[in-house]
Amino acid sequence: MARAVPVTARRGVRVGNPGRARPAAGLVQTALPLPPPRRRGPACSGGAAPDLNAYRLIVVCTSAGKDSLAMLAHVCRLIEEQDYRGRVVVLHNHLGVTGSGEPVEWPGVEAAAREHAAAYGLEFVTVTRNGGGLWHQVLVQRRRWMSNNARFCTSDQKTGPAMAWVTRAVAEVRAAERIPAGQPVPVLYCLGLRAQESPGRAAQPLLQVDRRQSSRNRTITRWLPIHGWSIAEVWAEIRRAGLRPHAGYSWGLARLSCALCVLASLEDLMLAAALRPALAADYRAAELELGQPFTERLSMGEILAGLDAARAEAAGDPAAADAALLLYGLVRDRLAATPQARGEGVTKSGKARTPWTAATLAARAGARTAEVLAAARRAVELAARADTSQVMAPPLDEAAETALVAAARR
Ligand code: SF4
Repeated sequence: MARAVPVTARRGVRVGNPGRARPAAGLVQTALPLPPPRRRGPACSGGAAPDLNAYRLIVVCTSAGKDSLAMLAHVCRLIEEQDYRGRVVVLHNHLGVTGSGEPVEWPGVEAAAREHAAAYGLEFVTVTRNGGGLWHQVLVQRRRWMSNNARFCTSDQKTGPAMAWVTRAVAEVRAAERIPAGQPVPVLYCLGLRAQESPGRAAQPLLQVDRRQSSRNRTITRWLPIHGWSIAEVWAEIRRAGLRPHAGYSWGLARLSCALCVLASLEDLMLAAALRPALAADYRAAELELGQPFTERLSMGEILAGLDAARAEAAGDPAAADAALLLYGLVRDRLAATPQARGEGVTKSGKARTPWTAATLAARAGARTAEVLAAARRAVELAARADTSQVMAPPLDEAAETALVAAARR
């Protein structure tokens, strides 16, 4: 079981502060037996922490992934160090299931997030979108896939429901602490984004008032507590905390959350489809219904064809060649329909595009087919080794931490 220290018990302070703010109905607040005190680990490059007692509500958002877990451990240490007296809530978003009932997230993420919050004795809440889950949004409401430029999966499925919950929690905090009407309740909203993940995330400020989400009732300050951390620092913090990470990382995944994330790497998507064939089949059926590839750079049809080819190869089946040819055809057809191949629009430097020649299309399709096949071969190998009977890994020892850091660098 987790060795994390319930900050409530160590300080004798009820984090979540039910004496001042009563948890909403249905919320969980559990303190585990007090384990031995942890020693503080080496300083991490997270930047200066804000004065937590300047906020009356701290919301720690969690996907149950490694970054969320490390952030939770880090924030709980600061809560203890600063003797924070306000309400703290660990908030998880549930994105729903497909038409066949397959969860779009990895199995066990909600239970993992709940376990992590309980290890610190914190209030835990799961929120869902009132207007329907991600599948309903994609197939019925939007009739399109989410993408880098249309992140409704985040804005509508995560931020929107979280902020609706914050609205209710702010009213509770105001009533419990007798904060006068017209005085905004200060809320610290914590996200486990890291600069290393992408240039877009690197450009995000560490601490900033979110004016869009703030109102005369509340001031939302968005804080990225582990923004400057490396992957090694993340895993070191998780090991120090003694908490159980989700087993997905030991299967070979780099990221958790939605199993088939539009922003995931080719390798993660391939492994996810290999581990969750029923979910991948639902995504392929949706792709055909919408007439759009799952992402601009990769379709679910290509992923499944790549896996078929890699499995046939591994089995020494002569059908492997035909499967690879089918994959090549899917890649070529998707590439041929892109604005770049058709010579539509302008390049990044503003020049008018020219259509690709047949030879260019064939060469690019061949190169991409080789990439997809290589990722499929690796995914088939990893999936064969993955023990998916357990969704939680044991707390990390030194060897496990080293292996996870090394895997992330590959
Ligand atoms: S994990 Fe990916 S698909 Fe899911 S909400 Fe986040 S960005 Fe969207």
